[in-house]
Amino acid sequence: MHITIIGGGIAGLATAFYLEKRAREQGREIQYVLLESSDRWGGKIATESVDGFLIEGGPDLLLAQKPAGIQLCKDLGLADRLISTNNDRQRTFLVRDGELVAFPEDFSLVPARFWPLVTSPLFSFFGKVRMGLEVFVPRRRDEGDESLASFIRRRLGVEAVRIGGAMLAGIHSADAERLSMQCAFPMYVAMEQRYGSLIKGVRAMRKTRASTGTAMFQTLVGGLGELVDTLVARLDGDLRRGVAVGDVRKVDGGFEVVAGEEVIETDAVVMATPAYVSADLVADFAPDLSLLLRDIRYVSTATVSLAYRKRDVEGQHDFEGFGFLSPKHEGRRITACTWVSTKLNFRAPDDGVLVRTFVGGTGQEDLVGLDDEALIALSCGELEDLMGLTADPLFARIFRWRRGRPQFDVGHLDRVAEMEHLAAQVDGLFLTGSAYRGSAIPDCIVQAVDTVDRILGEV
Ligand SMILES: Cc1cc2nc3c(=O)[nH]c(=O)nc-3n(C[C@H](O)[C@H](O)[C@H](O)COP(=O)(O)OP(=O)(O)OC[C@H]3O[C@@H](n4cnc5c(N)ncnc54)[C@H](O)[C@@H]3O)c2cc1C
Repeated sequence: MHITIIGGGIAGLATAFYLEKRAREQGREIQYVLLESSDRWGGKIATESVDGFLIEGGPDLLLAQKPAGIQLCKDLGLADRLISTNNDRQRTFLVRDGELVAFPEDFSLVPARFWPLVTSPLFSFFGKVRMGLEVFVPRRRDEGDESLASFIRRRLGVEAVRIGGAMLAGIHSADAERLSMQCAFPMYVAMEQRYGSLIKGVRAMRKTRASTGTAMFQTLVGGLGELVDTLVARLDGDLRRGVAVGDVRKVDGGFEVVAGEEVIETDAVVMATPAYVSADLVADFAPDLSLLLRDIRYVSTATVSLAYRKRDVEGQHDFEGFGFLSPKHEGRRITACTWVSTKLNFRAPDDGVLVRTFVGGTGQEDLVGLDDEALIALSCGELEDLMGLTADPLFARIFRWRRGRPQFDVGHLDRVAEMEHLAAQVDGLFLTGSAYRGSAIPDCIVQAVDTVDRILGEV
């Protein structure tokens, strides 16, 4: 049996890894080729070391609540390389009227504790009372999808949409009014159904977390690039970089995959590519599927990492916290900033400070097209305004993610079910990755495992 995996991001790499692992466990002989168009593995995972600083151009954390990411690290023997965020220094700020105001302690959409919310200047008196009344809001009976904004408005009130909505939508560079609750935050939907209230649910989860001592977020000492490097080193299959797949043809009993000059004959194809790429590749033999794939919207974003010498920024800001978010209505040209070297160890040398700003996303995508100099100037200007940071960075690293973030609009999972139905009608075709059932790294890994199970069940 021969399988072709297209796309060497985490979705494609995890598919290859679990394909080898499961086939070995089942005593089956499987051959595969993994094709990646760019000259490096990892896709959105892009880690670089520069002068003692460790820069993440894309993702930097694995959410522990979704254990597949941490499980993959363990499966690769990386358990002792896992580190957690420095939670003793955890404070997050929100830009309000041009000032940084701290979120109440233990606040992530839902106030887990009473006193920090009561004393927080972020919400009005009525906003706080409305949030507190969440425990009395009945659970939703309708099982259909709704937007993040609608969910928050219903449970926690209008003020929470402006603040909590900005926070959660920001994770997906999305618009809270369009983002599908069922696809992006199924845990809150489940919490409402299970506990009848988010406040009650979050309190119960806090207790579990405290008793198991699990941190919310983890990563690897060497950044998420370490996960990619270890995966690649571990794989035994035929791995090819710098090979763009230009066409896939359906033929009797399998496929022909056109990869550069070569035509690869294969029994099954896994497309772990962005949906708009997969749309082109299936267009000839699955036109309806192609149309649905093409309809998945993507937005463009960029990250700008700025490295400073500690002595240059001393007295300008204390960097006590994980950073800040800037909601759209503040009209800023960055959407967030992470104080990387406070949030995580091993990211800057002892005499260094590392920060990372986020640019673009819904409504501000044009900024991603600015040249490097303009993006650095824009970021430094915002940091001067908001944090009083006037020092010149030692260096900056910019990563642009054009059409890099899939958007899960309300009803997304229903459309994905339709895509899966159409894909299942083409023997040997599998779609996987961040465009479908969640875009976080653990979501991609869960989908990769599921893809492997389906491949081994079919071929
Ligand atoms: C700035 C940023 C921050 C993020 N932060 C986090 C985070 O902290 N935690 C988290 O869990 N998630 C985070 N995410 C989301 C997560 O990183 C991505 O959803 C995930 O890495 C995508 O993996 P993928 O394999 O589906 O796609 P990709 O990484 O996009 O991989 C697809 C691959 O397919 C290749 N390809 C495309 N066309 C072809 C072709 N024709 N032939 C061959 N190859 C092709 C591409 O070159 C690419 O390597 C973040 C994303 C971004 C952009």
